[in-house]
Amino acid sequence: MQSPFYLCTNPNFIRLITPTENINLNGTLKEYFGFEQFRTNQKEIIESVISGLDTLAIMPTGGGKSICYQLPALVFDKLTIVISPLIALMKDQVDSLRANGIEADYINSTIEGIEHQIILNKIETKVLKLLYIAPESLSYIDHLINEDSIAMIAIDEAHCISSWGHDFRPAYTQLGYLKERLPNIPILALTATADKATREDIVTQLNLQDPNRFISSFNRPNLYLEVRPGQDRIKQIISFINQRQNESGIVYCLSRKSTEDLAAKLNNAGINAGAYHAGLNAETRNRVQEEFINDDVQVICATIAFGMGIDKSNVRWVIHYNLPKNIEGYYQEIGRAGRDGVESDTLLFYSFADVVQLRKFAEDSSNEEFQLAKLDRMQQFAESLNCRRKALLSYFGESLGEDCGNCDNCKNPPLLFDGTLIAQKALSAIARLKEDETTNNIVDFLRGSSNTYIFGKGYHHLKTYGVGRDLSWKDWTQYMVQLLNQGYCEIAFHEGNKIKLTHLSKEVLFEGKEVTLAQNQEKTSAKKVKTEKKKKSHSDTDLFEVLRKLRLEISKDEGVPPYIVFNDATLKEMAAEKPTYDEAFLSIDGVGKAKLEKYGHLFMNKILAFENVSKKKKASTYIETWNLYQRGFSVEDIAVARELGETTVISHLSKLYLEGKPIDLKKYLRQGVFEKVKTASKELKELKLLKPYFELFNGEIPYEQIRIALTLLERDGR
Ligand SMILES: [Zn+2]
Repeated sequence: MQSPFYLCTNPNFIRLITPTENINLNGTLKEYFGFEQFRTNQKEIIESVISGLDTLAIMPTGGGKSICYQLPALVFDKLTIVISPLIALMKDQVDSLRANGIEADYINSTIEGIEHQIILNKIETKVLKLLYIAPESLSYIDHLINEDSIAMIAIDEAHCISSWGHDFRPAYTQLGYLKERLPNIPILALTATADKATREDIVTQLNLQDPNRFISSFNRPNLYLEVRPGQDRIKQIISFINQRQNESGIVYCLSRKSTEDLAAKLNNAGINAGAYHAGLNAETRNRVQEEFINDDVQVICATIAFGMGIDKSNVRWVIHYNLPKNIEGYYQEIGRAGRDGVESDTLLFYSFADVVQLRKFAEDSSNEEFQLAKLDRMQQFAESLNCRRKALLSYFGESLGEDCGNCDNCKNPPLLFDGTLIAQKALSAIARLKEDETTNNIVDFLRGSSNTYIFGKGYHHLKTYGVGRDLSWKDWTQYMVQLLNQGYCEIAFHEGNKIKLTHLSKEVLFEGKEVTLAQNQEKTSAKKVKTEKKKKSHSDTDLFEVLRKLRLEISKDEGVPPYIVFNDATLKEMAAEKPTYDEAFLSIDGVGKAKLEKYGHLFMNKILAFENVSKKKKASTYIETWNLYQRGFSVEDIAVARELGETTVISHLSKLYLEGKPIDLKKYLRQGVFEKVKTASKELKELKLLKPYFELFNGEIPYEQIRIALTLLERDGR
């Protein structure tokens, strides 16, 4: 391995290094992007390119890739070019930069003649800081590709250059000429998915010169990982969405038809859902995508074609209706949730029928073995009884020291039990049926079903028929899957999915081998606890809704997606912190200078109005208590009538007493308490806090008694 400094001894490779110590990167980050801190590797990558070095950055989706070239672009006095294959993403990013007060534009196939000229003028007059461009459109600015005009080139989705990668783009392979033409200009190659072979391919094909390499963790701790058996999927999905009102989400389906069917069913259940697949015409697809981005449609039922190239940061959940073909795809799709770092949910439905269908697809493909191996890994993930995140990260060559605590298996570990008897029943059934039946028929046989198939075959005369009546159909199906996974039996895909015995079956049937199974439990309980914990105080969520509506109005006025105005994480912090003056507003993560000036007063006015209303609500609660008191209600009666605690009623009366209302507070006081508190107050010199008194009296005088005494002291003196 060459050390990073090795090539510096070669005069041909010596580069001018710009010192970055004098540049206030954190200040720039806050001023333009509103963030207090860099995320992992961001600062190092930025320093590397500002120093003029070629750089390769592998970062997961949602890891904050774009800041790595957007921030240097602000530091340079020449243009930064961003090459991207994703047309929808360009517009989104340019909108977002402009909202932050940064001059940016894009050129791709959607831009026409006169617009080109306007953009070229902006480049020549050095107004523009960033230009996004599709690789196919580079010829439009060919005359400007020189070291006098350009400070840096960022190549996004760099894995598209490699035929090893899964999104190969021929236009990318020509990008190698850039380094030859601009040898002193740093190139930053970025991607979210690159295995080792692809990484090397990127470096070679782009002619990167001894690049600094930064590989970030693939861990996305804010994503909750959950897998459930694929029974009653529609019912489960509807209840899942109903628990998440107003939260955007995507349901991935295997077929075009199922996206449309599911969207229709969700709409029937009162959920605002749209369908998206490659079979729709471009116009419809764009419309559906726009509606989703702008929060006009809550749910998209889509094939995997959806999501590539959209940067919607507030996708709060992703469901897989079917098992994905491989872990790369699964990871990429769940990665579309929670890009703003806010907690988000992912749910995968797993059924054996999906495995059977995916195997068929794989067997029809050119690289069958490869595809089947990947499917096996996916299946293992879905069936895992251990921490899912550990399994996921190990696939990408990373190891997580401890269990994550944020997946279904961590939250609700499976209960294991001695399943030897169950296994013996199942395996002997397979033997009696001469290894000639599928799972469904075996389960029917075990449960003593009297359907025509069983009777037609005369299976009801066989021994073992009905020995498994004590277990439900659902339980048996689950246990069969577990037996298959552990190798106690196997599925003959080439023989219509008949179940066969293995050498392990014989050990169980004849040699007393013990079998461990996991109890088939409903996985909803742990999840419920989680969502309840997630819910903040009512006031926070109410204010969040108010701010969300304001954000939607602004986004409609400006014609940009809501998350460009502020993302969910920023809005949530606003709802919790309730800033009402400029400095406080600016201290919210995601608020930079431009957004403070543009939106600050609008949001702060809403927060003030909200605070006033809640103050009024509080004021009115005292008045209600007062009205009942005047009507002669006792403390106990008031507490019952208003569904409050007696302590709360006493505190209301104390407050009203302090305001001068004629209340006979003394009558609620036990004998001797007033004197004791009065004496203590001379020592404690404190009339507001109750706790010091409570402690001084060793907890023998209740809080509300202390409160009354202190109130009397406060109004009437000692
Ligand atoms: Zn876990």
